Amino acid sequence: MKILIATDMEGITGVTTWDQVTPGHPEYARFRKQMTEDVNAAIRGAYQASADEVIVADGHWNGSNILIEQLDARGRLNTGSPSPFSMMQGIDESVDAVMFIGYHARNGSPNAILDHTWSSRTVANVWLNDILTGEYGLNAAVAGHFGVPVIMVSGDQTACAQVTELLGEVETAVVKQASGRFAAECLSPEGTRDTICVSAERAVARLAEGDVPDPFVLIL
Ligand SMILES: [Zn+2]
Repeated sequence: MKILIATDMEGITGVTTWDQVTPGHPEYARFRKQMTEDVNAAIRGAYQASADEVIVADGHWNGSNILIEQLDARGRLNTGSPSPFSMMQGIDESVDAVMFIGYHARNGSPNAILDHTWSSRTVANVWLNDILTGEYGLNAAVAGHFGVPVIMVSGDQTACAQVTELLGEVETAVVKQASGRFAAECLSPEGTRDTICVSAERAVARLAEGDVPDPFVLIL
């Protein structure tokens, strides 16, 4: 079973401000480390079920956030930018399922940490056919093009709810309860380590049983 872990940073454990996800800011270094830890928890969970290959796509900013020297040794990392599939680099027909780690809600969502869609400066909203969506929808559609389902998401409660609303009952790891765009009640890293690991394990176990939502395929 081959799993692609597609990552972003705004929905990582403890993140509530742009400074924390902006390369060059002193706060950023702390949350790169945390992003790597959230990813490692997902890798661990996937292998505790029946995954035997895990690739990771570093999807935030320039794709150079995850600390490879701290990455679980069983993972391979797609890093750097630009790449052909951007936040979904590594996707193809050989992948069995995708997990979203550190995802955020679409632009304009209430109670959603750092809500935006691709670029908060240049994109107000995105629709796929008539569906108002965010990066999660665009990236799920890329996976769907290859016949691959999304089976798990981590992020704040609003991001998780939006992914579930679009795709169906994927496993969710809520790492923080947002009360605004820049404020949330956050679980500790120790707490989210377990939550993410358990969700990932459950998602892959469900995949093995054929009990996951269908791939998100756009009908044009
Ligand atoms: Zn991002």
